Amino acid sequence: MSELISIDEGRRRVLQAVRPLTAEDVPLTEALGRVLAEDLESSIDVPPFDSSALDGFAVIAGPAAELAVVGESRAGHPAAERLRPGAAIRISTGAAIPAGTTAVVPVERSDAGANGRVRVQESREGDNIRRAGEDVPAGQLVLRAGSRLGPAELGVAASLGRASLRCARRPRVAILATGDELTDPGASLDAGRIYSSNAWALAAQAARAGAVVVARETVRDEPDDTRSALARALDVGDVVIASGGVSVGPHDHVKPALADLGAEERFWGVRLRPGKPTWFGTRGTTLAFGLPGNPVSAMVTFQLFVRPALAALQGADPSASRGYATLDVAVPRNPKREEAVRVRLSSAEDGWHAVPTGPQGSHVLTSMLGADALARIEPGEGTVDAGDRVEVELL
Ligand code: AMP
Ligand code: MG
Repeated sequence: MSELISIDEGRRRVLQAVRPLTAEDVPLTEALGRVLAEDLESSIDVPPFDSSALDGFAVIAGPAAELAVVGESRAGHPAAERLRPGAAIRISTGAAIPAGTTAVVPVERSDAGANGRVRVQESREGDNIRRAGEDVPAGQLVLRAGSRLGPAELGVAASLGRASLRCARRPRVAILATGDELTDPGASLDAGRIYSSNAWALAAQAARAGAVVVARETVRDEPDDTRSALARALDVGDVVIASGGVSVGPHDHVKPALADLGAEERFWGVRLRPGKPTWFGTRGTTLAFGLPGNPVSAMVTFQLFVRPALAALQGADPSASRGYATLDVAVPRNPKREEAVRVRLSSAEDGWHAVPTGPQGSHVLTSMLGADALARIEPGEGTVDAGDRVEVELL
């Protein structure tokens, strides 16, 4: 680790290496959380025709009158006749406005008259009529490529009549947890061993970032095993995430194995706590991350470096949601490295406030519980005091 780089420089190098993935057609039923790979334009007006905003009577606008009810326009069943002076057409919410109509009088502003007639109160032109294209006129750009598809986006796409959307392929992620001490959850623990949490937390982070986890392996701290597991991971993944084994210990084999397999180092070592020994490299278009093994370091460096990569691979905006918050308790600065402090956020009259989630050791995984954001504490002497403003990146 010759010279540590800043978080922002690390992210820049990661994003520089990203080559966006190809696109594929995805049915709406499977498109939640995917990233749009086309500009979505409407080929129709939405709503497609002038329609009634409520249940009532289609009329020619004017003073109160008693009118002959000559027909009905129901949702899905437009009236056949044209509205003529002296007549009204019963209409329901969402039903097509009959030709000749200039207003709709709500049921509540009408009374039954004799012989199937209706007395309506006065109305003005356009009352209670929703115009075709009021939501989306034909030809309008509705969503840009790069938009993340949530419930509203899917609903709007459906309202345009789209049954499928062009989306970026989901990045394939292969996860490799390294360490002789690791035991998968569910098995019993022998002396000196711990449960492997990284493989689960990282897989969940990857899935949440839109990736498909295609492989998850645990490998012992042996050079050959590490090398062959990484070879498999590089073969199946657009992104390989190894955890552990990237430090300078005699049992850290990830870096030499990756080098052996033709991965080119883009950085090793970030001026960051937790997460200093983070390694990043590429083989062809495949991105390889060697994240530190400490569980908090792994999750934090995923958030800072891998998540943006997964977003950019899908053509989405890789930048984190940021803001500023007031620290409610003092936090010591690290003299040399930027600290990513896990904080809980709350809102008050003067904006957001941040409180650390508890002890911040890189092995204290429960410090991720209830964390809403990472507060970025610049290196320096002394403390950041209670009441100071800090930059936060939302998790
Ligand atoms: P390393 O980066 O391999 O030196 O590991 C640093 C620390 O993280 C050690 O205490 C490891 O036991 C721990 N660690 C490594 N991998 C995992 C994992 N998959 N789950 C939980 N802890 C881990
Ligand atoms: Mg290890």
